[in-house]
Amino acid sequence: MTRTHRWFLLTAVLGLALAAAGPALGADKINLLIIDGQNGHNWKATTPPIKEMLEKTGRFAVEVVTSPPKDAPKEDWDKFRPDFSKYAVVLTNYAGQPWPDEVRAAFEKYVRDGGGLVVYHFAVASFPEWEAYNKMIGIGWRDNKFGDRIALDDDGKVVRQAKGEGPGAGHGPAHPFEVTVRDKDHPITKGMPEKWAHVSDELYHGQRGPAQDMHILATAYSAKDKGGTGMNEPMAWTIPFGKGRVFTCLLGHDIPQTTAPDCATLLVRGAEWAATGEVTIPVPPDMAGKKE
Ligand code: ZN
Repeated sequence: MTRTHRWFLLTAVLGLALAAAGPALGADKINLLIIDGQNGHNWKATTPPIKEMLEKTGRFAVEVVTSPPKDAPKEDWDKFRPDFSKYAVVLTNYAGQPWPDEVRAAFEKYVRDGGGLVVYHFAVASFPEWEAYNKMIGIGWRDNKFGDRIALDDDGKVVRQAKGEGPGAGHGPAHPFEVTVRDKDHPITKGMPEKWAHVSDELYHGQRGPAQDMHILATAYSAKDKGGTGMNEPMAWTIPFGKGRVFTCLLGHDIPQTTAPDCATLLVRGAEWAATGEVTIPVPPDMAGKKE
């Protein structure tokens, strides 16, 4: 064998080895799965722009799985078996009937073993009967007898209200409101303005749940004259679940609210953080709303 032949053989073998080691999905990208299919909201309209905003960052390879519709026959649900292990992060745009036990167990294992999760807007209304999901989201769209409530007072101090005390989940009429960052050093919120103006949207209040290990990143003042609580309601937060990272964002009722630069930035940076623990996607200049 000549020197050239040996060199050629070595390169060929090395090339094959590299090709075999390459991941199946998005190569150097973060594989992300959006789940939708049932939601009291316009999920058919909001999933495509969410997919687009994620892909536009160049960081994600996005796939969408749509569950069977409400009251679909069992054989349809038997085919609904998302392979969570293929993804670094799952974004849920789902608020509907319980998933089959097998899917719930796989999902729980996926997050517990280190999978990322982004919970978007009304997805916090899902699965009140599922203990692990309640822990992952911390608080969600449930009545005031369901669990504790967390809000911040005028001084930014966390106030915990016990089950049965204070308001349950709700929101006044949609209106523009200001969002305040509560941790400017967290990878998701780092570099964001301290306060910014959000478009007209629903300002959720009185969310309820176990409310454990919540790290609140941003809040919005829920004014009483706008049908609110007179307190600063959590809008974005993180929770660890096993080895997994969960990011919840309550903003984004429909397309204009979800694609507003602030909500879009929270979602894409939150997804990157949930997947990797770090954020490289920049804060866009057009997110810099009102500063005080
Ligand atoms: Zn909504």
